Amino acid sequence: MDLGIKGKRALVCASSKGLGLACATALAEAGVNLVMNARGAEALEAAAQDLRDRFGVEVATVAVDVTTPEGQSKLIEAAQGVDILVNNAGGPPPGMWTDWDRDDFVAALDANMLTPIALIKALVPGMIEKRWGRVVNITSQSVKAPIAVLGLSNSARAGLTGYVAGTSRQVAPHGVCINNLLPGSHATDRIDALDRGTSQNQGISFEEARAARQATIPAGRDGNPRDFGATCAFMCSQYASFMVGQNVLLDGGNVNATL
Ligand code: NAP
Repeated sequence: MDLGIKGKRALVCASSKGLGLACATALAEAGVNLVMNARGAEALEAAAQDLRDRFGVEVATVAVDVTTPEGQSKLIEAAQGVDILVNNAGGPPPGMWTDWDRDDFVAALDANMLTPIALIKALVPGMIEKRWGRVVNITSQSVKAPIAVLGLSNSARAGLTGYVAGTSRQVAPHGVCINNLLPGSHATDRIDALDRGTSQNQGISFEEARAARQATIPAGRDGNPRDFGATCAFMCSQYASFMVGQNVLLDGGNVNATL
């Protein structure tokens, strides 16, 4: 399927590995030129070169922490005029509700709510000018069904979801579609870290922690990042022009809800 976005340009944040890289890869496959980002320059450049070699697209890299004001300034400068923005960053650490104080919440809000909002505010005006744009925010299934140990994530991502619900309706008349893509468990470094945390907290092996978690997923396994990236690319395509303010859940059926 030709997604109709060949030659467009996208900023994909936090994209040297995992879900961000999967989104960058699917966009590159669709012929989209990229600005890629991560903190670690080496893995970022390696990922960028791989996409240049495989898909012949232009890929610029900006090795900064997307959650800092300095990092955002550099990214915004490099990404001026992009048609597509994929917001992503690392997720907050797990814990108990008694663990977190104000500073922990401020850090989580900065990373998973205020960072995507800052990039939307900086880059959507250029999309409005061209009367075409797509924004996909990688959030989490936790906005539909809370994951108790991820209280910081539950809180910050709920805030972003509320912002997108209103803002997406304000920019839709200008041809700009903002939507959220909600991962359930996917096979990335992040899920390995969460399973290691469960194994330590519950005094069980990593394999037991993983098996117990996967047993709660009706599909019986973790998601493949490649499929996640393809969904993201579709949400950035010409065919997503009527998708506004939606929360697209990819969780193997884990959230037990009718809607
Ligand atoms: P991952 O495999 O750990 O990859 C994270 C990527 O983001 C890496 O490229 C990392 O590179 C980059 N990154 C992290 N923090 C960054 C920062 N502050 N600035 C710039 N780049 C940064 O994680 P993932 O599984 O793809 O998860 C992506 C997002 O989806 C996270 O917010 C996670 O909480 C959420 N999520 C994931 C799952 C899942 O099952 N995988 C489920 C629900 C939600 P550097 O370390 O070099 O910066």
